[in-house]
Amino acid sequence: MMESVETDGGLHITGDANATAEHAVVAPLKQLFTGLRVGLPTLTIRCCACGAKLGEGATVSVYAYRTVETPRWHLARCRCPDCAPDDIATPTLGATEVRISARLAVVSDVGAQQHRLCLAEPTIGTVSSPRDGTSP
Ligand SMILES: [Zn+2]
Repeated sequence: MMESVETDGGLHITGDANATAEHAVVAPLKQLFTGLRVGLPTLTIRCCACGAKLGEGATVSVYAYRTVETPRWHLARCRCPDCAPDDIATPTLGATEVRISARLAVVSDVGAQQHRLCLAEPTIGTVSSPRDGTSP
């Protein structure tokens, strides 16, 4: 399995800078993904499949993963509802993978004077545990 998640979708490195491994492990998934930042400080993102613009209030489907080595969740493959797959086709061994449906909400980062898109009201779909998947 040589799936490259680092470059897929252009969305990455999310979550609270203060999050610790402990926090990431114990928090319920739904709570964990609420308010998670999506992408760069812009007010629209694009569906990685069809290129549709998605902004505040839009429903998106996001693939999130975390490897066993890191407490951080990474977001990738942000898709519009039309393009959203409802399953994780190829579970990756050693990574926790989650398919999330959520609405996009705009939050203001007062300190940085930026507005960012965050996930709101996430619904957890398929979850793949690190034990799922095939060995390389
Ligand atoms: Zn799409």
